[in-house]
Amino acid sequence: MISKDDLYVILEINRAASVTEIKRAFRKLARRYHPDINPGDGLAEERFKMITEAYEILSDPLKREFYDVNGFYTEGVLETNRKDANWGFSFQGFNFSRSRDSNFSDLFSHLGPSPRREPQRGQDLEYPVSITFEESIRGRKARISLVRMDGCGTCNGTGQQPGSRESACNGCGGTGKTIFTKGHLQFTVTCGDCGGTGRSINLCRSCRGDGRASRSETLDVDLPPGVATGSRIRLSGKGDSGRFGGPAGDLYVVVRVGEHPFFRRIGDNIHCSIPLTVTEAALGTKIEIPTIDGPAVVRIPPGTQSGQVLRMRGRGTPSLLNPGLRGDQYTEVRVVVPRVADERSKQILRELAKLNPEDPRLKLW
Ligand code: ZN
Repeated sequence: MISKDDLYVILEINRAASVTEIKRAFRKLARRYHPDINPGDGLAEERFKMITEAYEILSDPLKREFYDVNGFYTEGVLETNRKDANWGFSFQGFNFSRSRDSNFSDLFSHLGPSPRREPQRGQDLEYPVSITFEESIRGRKARISLVRMDGCGTCNGTGQQPGSRESACNGCGGTGKTIFTKGHLQFTVTCGDCGGTGRSINLCRSCRGDGRASRSETLDVDLPPGVATGSRIRLSGKGDSGRFGGPAGDLYVVVRVGEHPFFRRIGDNIHCSIPLTVTEAALGTKIEIPTIDGPAVVRIPPGTQSGQVLRMRGRGTPSLLNPGLRGDQYTEVRVVVPRVADERSKQILRELAKLNPEDPRLKLW
């Protein structure tokens, strides 16, 4: 039990003090007598407990009123008096811990939250680029414009308003921890005002303490010869910049290659198919076959069958994995059967059949 005048004396305020004055007084005294600022000083510790207890009562309207009327306040006395008509006014169920928390949070609410400022790596970014098949073979430069997080120009990435000073956190006096008392128990918790850093800063007004700002940037990217759909070109450090000294993320340019009407790419090889007449396939010939380097003359041996595949070494795409090497081109032969309408052609084909009586289905079963 504390005698009537003590609480006001302890907080060095008069009996008419407003809520704001009570808070201000408590803040000032708590900073001076905090045990962590006065290690080993038993008197300061005792004083700090008294200040805290006085503040706890006087900052609560119900408790203060009870104290003012009765000249004392002890924990639980409001509960005891709930049904006591003498005490004058009714009140809702009373939650000590919630009241306690709200006291503490609005006590320091004028300070911006001070986030933990540990180094954090920036985000990786992806940027899609579409190119044509031909461009994927030759490679090309691509100019891309993207928006990424970069260091805030106002605060140079510190998150702190320029010109303002970093000070010990008011909430914890610089210790990063706050102590609160409940009855005879004391709890030490991470200071909610500074997140445990013990420091309090004025947040940069441009970036609100993030230390970064979004910025659009234009970059020239080299897409090397041989890029394929799904190729990811990494631009180291061109992702979002890190926070509080952390490294930047990377930028991945993700390639999409358009279809080609004739060539199809599988790995580093190129696949295509080419039509042959029956006569060309039967007699053999030399034809021009398109490649990505231009037409190439290829000998078709006599008796070439439909579905046969010609391999042309080194005519595939440049290899991303093995620079300097190229894949191959695989050209499938498709024999086109003539649609004969005239009697003379039919005659010739019948004669041809007589001269070549083999049954192509003979060995099938
Ligand atoms: Zn800033």
